[in-house]
Amino acid sequence: MTTRQTTSPTTSRNLPARTGVLVVGAGEAGVRVAASLRELGYDRPILLLGEEPHRPYQRPPLSKTFLDGTADHDALALRTPEFYAEAAIDLRTGRMVTHVDLDGSGAGAAHCEDGDAVAFDHLVLATGARARTLPVAGADLTGVCTLRSLQDAEALRERLASAGRVVVLGAGYIGLEAAAVTSARGLDTTVVERADRLLSRVSAAPLSEFLLARHREWGVDFRLGTEVEAVVGDGGRARGVRLGGGQVVPADLVVVGVGAVPETALAEKLGLRVQRGIAVDAAGRTSHPMVFAAGDCTVRPHPHLPGELLGVESVQNANEQARAVAASIAGVTPPAPPVPWFWSDQRDLKLQIAGISGGHDRYVIRGHPGDGDVSVLYYRAGALIASESVNRPKDFMAVKRALGKGATIPPRAAADAATPLKDLILEPA
Ligand SMILES: Cc1cc2nc3c(=O)[nH]c(=O)nc-3n(C[C@H](O)[C@H](O)[C@H](O)COP(=O)(O)OP(=O)(O)OC[C@H]3O[C@@H](n4cnc5c(N)ncnc54)[C@H](O)[C@@H]3O)c2cc1C
Repeated sequence: MTTRQTTSPTTSRNLPARTGVLVVGAGEAGVRVAASLRELGYDRPILLLGEEPHRPYQRPPLSKTFLDGTADHDALALRTPEFYAEAAIDLRTGRMVTHVDLDGSGAGAAHCEDGDAVAFDHLVLATGARARTLPVAGADLTGVCTLRSLQDAEALRERLASAGRVVVLGAGYIGLEAAAVTSARGLDTTVVERADRLLSRVSAAPLSEFLLARHREWGVDFRLGTEVEAVVGDGGRARGVRLGGGQVVPADLVVVGVGAVPETALAEKLGLRVQRGIAVDAAGRTSHPMVFAAGDCTVRPHPHLPGELLGVESVQNANEQARAVAASIAGVTPPAPPVPWFWSDQRDLKLQIAGISGGHDRYVIRGHPGDGDVSVLYYRAGALIASESVNRPKDFMAVKRALGKGATIPPRAAADAATPLKDLILEPA
């Protein structure tokens, strides 16, 4: 990596007049774009503008170790403060870009909320996503919390200290992780989910059932197939959640975990193609070939469903897309995309996902749900495309390796949990 001394990230308020690369959004993807550019030898100025007041941090612990109090602020940092100085990455926090002017070559100028502006040669949008809010009455009451930012997590952690009854809205990863933390603290926890099972958008039914059983053992109450009508309260504070049938579940804390909405405002103003997220190709190019985007703000070609676009909200995806963007700007061939992977921690359950299961036409169960571990392997047209494993890390590793080589694992053999999956991998012909 090129090392040069530069001004300390936040000492100077004024933006430079011009930069080589402007990265909007100082999260996982934005920081990785900047770091990879330096690793590739890019030697022009790099400016990283982030709206949040904090130095770039990791979000996964916010619903896990930070929320349960076993990790503190220091453990969240994505990079040390010295990193930005040594890599000559000009990081400015607390700076929101409100609009961008662009010319045909992809160069232009970005304008911040405070009126300051900077000209750039290349623009990268790494604006992430925002927590989806609940369009029901009472969603603005005190005690109703989303969980996307460090600020959200700090507020939630503080409220947990005095909460008695918690209602979690949404049985996706973040909702389930939050419920795992609150139930472990002995708080009366209810999860309300519109679909009739957990993780319904991403997981096969047996995995949903497995997780449901474990959370129930921990004392979590589930209301599945249930709509939320309103958050009810008095004196401006949440006191409960009214369900579709009229029943009110008492709560002094309501955690809203109903997904995230890609932040596409700048892209839309620029007239870029946006379809739930900013559409990008494998090289991270938007519909303007010289404007790039990476991370949760994007959608990319679906690996199994031709013509469809897919948004992948994961640390690994943010980093992988960011590396592709950096390579494109530096003029080198982007690396071949690695196998997508993801994880979720819920008390003693470690969920690990390899590949993208969307588009599967068959799945195979492997393992011993009664003993606390299970894997689901997903297939399309007979070929392995993904797996989800709970407490079966060897299955996860084997599938990841197989997918990385374009290999498969015959479904019938895969169901035999006594045979290690690594011994069943069929190399491509
Ligand atoms: C609670 C939680 C738990 C998670 N757990 C996991 C997990 O276990 N495993 C996993 O793989 N992934 C997990 N994720 C997802 C993962 O954290 C994200 O996929 C990843 O952070 C995406 O990085 P990003 O850089 O695209 O977006 P972000 O991290 O959202 O960063 C985008 C940044 O851009 C800023 N920004 C937006 N607009 C502007 C603007 N106009 N001007 C300036 N700045 C702007 C935002 O404020 C934000 O700071 C979790 C996410 C959350 C919220």
